[in-house]
Amino acid sequence: MIKLKDFEVWFVTGSQHLYGKETLKQVDADSKKIAEYLDKSANIPCRVVFKPVVTTPDKITSICVKANNAKNCVGLITWMHTFSPAKMWIAGLSILKKPFVHLHTQFNRDIPWKSIDMDFMNLNQSAHGGREFGFICSRMRKNRKVVVGHWQDPEVVEKLDIWMRAACAWNDWQGMKVARFGDNMREVAVTEGDKVEAQKKFGYSVNGYGVGDLVAVINKVDSKQINSMVNQYKRDYKVKLTAAQLEAVRTSAQIEVGMRTFLEKGGFKAFTTTFEDLHGLVQLPGLPVQRLMADGYGFGAEGDWKTAALVRAMKVMATGLNGGTSFMEDYTYHLDPKGMKVLGAHMLEVCPSIASGKSSLEVHPLGIGGKADPPRLVFNVPQGSGVNVSVMDMGNRFRMLINPCKVVKPDADLPKLPVARVVWQPEPNLKVAAGAWILGGGAHHTGFSMALTAEHIEDFAEMADIEYLMIDKNTTISNFKKDIRTNEVYYMLANGLK
Ligand code: MN
Repeated sequence: MIKLKDFEVWFVTGSQHLYGKETLKQVDADSKKIAEYLDKSANIPCRVVFKPVVTTPDKITSICVKANNAKNCVGLITWMHTFSPAKMWIAGLSILKKPFVHLHTQFNRDIPWKSIDMDFMNLNQSAHGGREFGFICSRMRKNRKVVVGHWQDPEVVEKLDIWMRAACAWNDWQGMKVARFGDNMREVAVTEGDKVEAQKKFGYSVNGYGVGDLVAVINKVDSKQINSMVNQYKRDYKVKLTAAQLEAVRTSAQIEVGMRTFLEKGGFKAFTTTFEDLHGLVQLPGLPVQRLMADGYGFGAEGDWKTAALVRAMKVMATGLNGGTSFMEDYTYHLDPKGMKVLGAHMLEVCPSIASGKSSLEVHPLGIGGKADPPRLVFNVPQGSGVNVSVMDMGNRFRMLINPCKVVKPDADLPKLPVARVVWQPEPNLKVAAGAWILGGGAHHTGFSMALTAEHIEDFAEMADIEYLMIDKNTTISNFKKDIRTNEVYYMLANGLK
């Protein structure tokens, strides 16, 4: 469903005419080599397209206009091989709508100590050319990532890979449609927010659809479609069901086909449900939601459109990487001082992309909502590193919280727990992590990923130009409180700077 190779990043090199034709030809050739190297790298997720060196304000503005209008261009890599007087960049940068990364590299990795002369010095000027470009970006308060090092350094390629993934997700959000089946869970605060502001800030639109409209599509699903879906379940999961449970699974298959049809026809990339509004649906959709998430749809329960959009973005970023990405909820704690942990889960809707091995398809009663027993996939999650992310509407801005964690084995089997679950230890430890999370107003719902790192999310937050607060191994509660207070002032004033 998601193909990152459909997206392009444009490689744009700045220079000026002062150097003469020969040098500019060399700059052009060197830039082309770097762009091709990155394009061919197995560790780069999308295409890297070389663009001829820009040497005048008009050319710079023109490439920025073109990038804005190219639908599949997700951003620019900018590089100053030589010195590019940066007033030339003001017009272009002020209209550029796409994210950019400043690659602060040099074509020659090493100084040729014995042969270096003024010609070499004049050609390899990134060290000061990059500083001139950096100044104008900072002077214009431009959010961007700066990556420093030789272009063949694997660490540099990795940082570009991370940034490109974030840029693809950002591009995916522009014009994205999020469907809400039913509204918000009644009286819940954190899942609410300003959808108009979100559309202005993030580019995606959120609209509500009557559950009856979805039910009408589900009712049109025929038994052939249901049979084929049930057969798919039998191939994909461990299935051991009674006749009555199989009937529930058939109902679930019908709901899944209907939801897929609705979402595909409407061109939606993310959706929400709420157990408080299931009018005409016999079950809360569990299995269908899990399977739709596994196919790349963003999801948020209880009307949580912000998390639905976030999960979709994280899935785009994680495309092709090891480890899955899911909607998640901090559900319950293990507060033993010898090893405090969080058990993450949801009533049903956890994505099987994070499962270890084959999931078990089971039917159990749901103690909430008063509907028929819903089928769901039950599984554990392998150990490894993960990250939890949350976006909240703070009234005057959106805030993103990021908390890396270590997924650990549950202390024992959980034979009576009828849902998918993840057990993790947040960084730096549960006491500080949960304390900071709560002081930061972080939601109980998150996007959880074992494919992404905090750096993916940080790059994405820069592109979205929102506040992000990291809770990691260096966090202390008193410093975190200071960050929050500083940010309160910053975000009140920041719009005046830009
Ligand atoms: Mn929930």
